[in-house]
Amino acid sequence: MRVVVSIGGSVLAPGLDSDRIAAYASAVGSLVDEDCEVGVVVGGGSVAREYIDAARDLGANEVLLDRLGIGVTRLNARLLIAGLSERATPTPPEEYEAAGQALRRGDIPVMGGIMPGQTTDAVAVALAESIGAELLIFATSTTGVFDIDPETDSEASQFAELSPQELVDVVVPMARDAGASAPVDLLAAKLIDRADMRSIVLDGSDPERIVSATLQGHHDGTDIVPAGADSPDRWGNRMTPRDDDSGSESGVETASGGANDSPHLLADSTPDTERAYWAETVADAIDARNPDQPIVIKGGVSPSGVSHLGNFNEIMRGYLVAQVLRDRGHDVRQVFTSDDRDPLRKVPRTLADSDGSLVDLGDVDAESLGRSLGMAYTDIPDPFGDAPSYAAHFASLLKSDAERLDVPVEMISTTDLYENGTFDPILDRVLGDVEQARDVIAPYQDTVDESYVPFNAICSECGQMTDTVTAVDPDARTVEYRCTGMDAGDRTIDGCGHEGTAGFREGKLPWRFEWPAEWAVLGVDFEPFGKDHAEGSWPSGVDIAHNVVNVEPPVPTVYEWFTLNGEPLSSSAGNIITVQQLLELLEPEVVRYFFARNPKKARDLDISRLDQLVDEFDRFERAFFDETGDEHLAPFARAAYPHVVDEVREGRVRLPYTFAAVLGMVDDRELQVRLARSEGHIAADTPQWAIDDALDRIERARSWARQMDNAYNYELQAELPEVTFTEATTAALDDLAEFVAAGHDGEAIQSEIYDTARKHDLDVGDFFEAGYRLFFDDTAGPRLGEFLGDLEREFVVTRLRREG
Ligand SMILES: [Zn+2]
Repeated sequence: MRVVVSIGGSVLAPGLDSDRIAAYASAVGSLVDEDCEVGVVVGGGSVAREYIDAARDLGANEVLLDRLGIGVTRLNARLLIAGLSERATPTPPEEYEAAGQALRRGDIPVMGGIMPGQTTDAVAVALAESIGAELLIFATSTTGVFDIDPETDSEASQFAELSPQELVDVVVPMARDAGASAPVDLLAAKLIDRADMRSIVLDGSDPERIVSATLQGHHDGTDIVPAGADSPDRWGNRMTPRDDDSGSESGVETASGGANDSPHLLADSTPDTERAYWAETVADAIDARNPDQPIVIKGGVSPSGVSHLGNFNEIMRGYLVAQVLRDRGHDVRQVFTSDDRDPLRKVPRTLADSDGSLVDLGDVDAESLGRSLGMAYTDIPDPFGDAPSYAAHFASLLKSDAERLDVPVEMISTTDLYENGTFDPILDRVLGDVEQARDVIAPYQDTVDESYVPFNAICSECGQMTDTVTAVDPDARTVEYRCTGMDAGDRTIDGCGHEGTAGFREGKLPWRFEWPAEWAVLGVDFEPFGKDHAEGSWPSGVDIAHNVVNVEPPVPTVYEWFTLNGEPLSSSAGNIITVQQLLELLEPEVVRYFFARNPKKARDLDISRLDQLVDEFDRFERAFFDETGDEHLAPFARAAYPHVVDEVREGRVRLPYTFAAVLGMVDDRELQVRLARSEGHIAADTPQWAIDDALDRIERARSWARQMDNAYNYELQAELPEVTFTEATTAALDDLAEFVAAGHDGEAIQSEIYDTARKHDLDVGDFFEAGYRLFFDDTAGPRLGEFLGDLEREFVVTRLRREG
């Protein structure tokens, strides 16, 4: 987890006590050892106040005083940096971006103040927000947040928990009263509220309290909990109090015991069946309905351009639940509706060709696509000319990607459901009593008035969809329409004005009706959906299912959207990745694992740090085989792992992803195996299949290094490149060869490179470059000493001696 710790100056450095600083450094270090990514912000404390008082007496203005204060916070930050030594950034970052970069490098950014007028409390919140921290801890000199100042009022009582808004309300009067001191200043409180940042205010005098609050959520301070926030994953299943979620007034009773049907509460409200793996909790809820066989699991999207990884929430979440149900002996049918009678409202900027490669709009016939605006996806030709329609093109891409992940899905075209009459009974029911449909939908949609008809017709003149339906004839099963175009977000698509008659099969239900109609005709028992639907079409869908369509809605699961490289996935902004692209970098089981994690948690897929995701997967795998001793992870791993891998098999070998990237610099299979052996990843008795499987990761890590052009994107030269060096350089290389031959690890070699250069009076940079020439025929490369430490000693020595 990512966490920011704000340590008050008076907590960290009341005097200049090195033991005390060391204790905080060790606490922060232990969080990192526990796989936390930690950012630290340090305050100025009483020393800062002394400086400020002295300067004020000298007549300094407020800005100057603030700068003095900032200076002291940075001094304190440097003290803590001294305690953390090379684990921390060498200097306090002065920008959030630099702090974020340090974090991604695996360093601990330790910041002080940034600008006048802003306390380090506020810096801590801004840092937490900018790096997407799950938790912010204020280690203060008070025990938490009080209703009134405990210093001056013995009646003061401490809050156990507050919402961010309540925190602001508490701090405002304290901020007004110059004498009172709030545990968190007003700007910081407002920023917490704005960012919905989960925070803890605690007594920081004992650094161990920071550790247990971060790792377990245990503390005696005040929790600041945004409405609906989940506890950090690693705290386990501690329940989080939340606002009463009374989103649905229809109050559906789920078979699992009358729990509120809000999808938000699905997992949390069923403590009897609380499981370590969300898919089992969902399967429990499905089981409790005594479903007919086969159980039907559905996903679906509107085929709008590229089937990207975000769409795979719809497939993978369903698949993982399907696998749990299959394990329990059920017959399961996983279907996927391509909601392809939806009209094209906007020409996407990016498309994918039939090989799945991303293609810019400029490379296809954009003009003809532009003319197709407002038409159903199934009525639009495939811009690549291969498939029968735009919709079919998209659906086949999606199906191929599902197959790449070994997930069998049955694709269903919604247009087919209209054209082949499957929807007829639902259309009869909805359009047979338009008033009833109108009454049910009206509370959910402002645009519903007495002329509203829940049907969009396809204009027989221009082929566009129109929502202006002026009359319905249920007996003839027709509607009268006027082609008025449609609203497409920020603009409108004009209609042709034609007035005509369309049959029930020549149009579509609006989405809010179409979705429950799909549940009815397909008999859907479970459907995952994005959080946008959770507040929109899900509550109305439940109502329509019960009161118009007459079907029980499926068991819901809401998934959070994940972001890609910190930004929302968006075809229009070009921030997308397809399954196919991701599988060039990751093994299918790692991608499946990505979706096996808790769907209610917003996550970022940071391509530059895929190594972390792979490490996480490897750990998850070891936890399944009980090799981690992590009691929190093991139950989840035991339940989910068998559904994530093709085959549970003992004795698998996983090369750490970054090591695989190192091996990727070597273009020689045999050498790769030797190196993996010498690093202890492959044992003498490792079977051949395990070696072959392990080596599969190398090609992916190599593609990653190439794409990222990161520290692993170099190619080790199998043959000695043509090189000429000065006499001093050759002498230094010979010395270094001696040193390596004597047997030293990478770190020792790295510092020896510096020493050798100095000894021979060489510029250190030039000497490194000589090394890169020798090994990579390049002027730059990875951390040379460590890389050479990973290689076979004999190879390195021979090369340093320029003998081969
Ligand atoms: Zn028309």
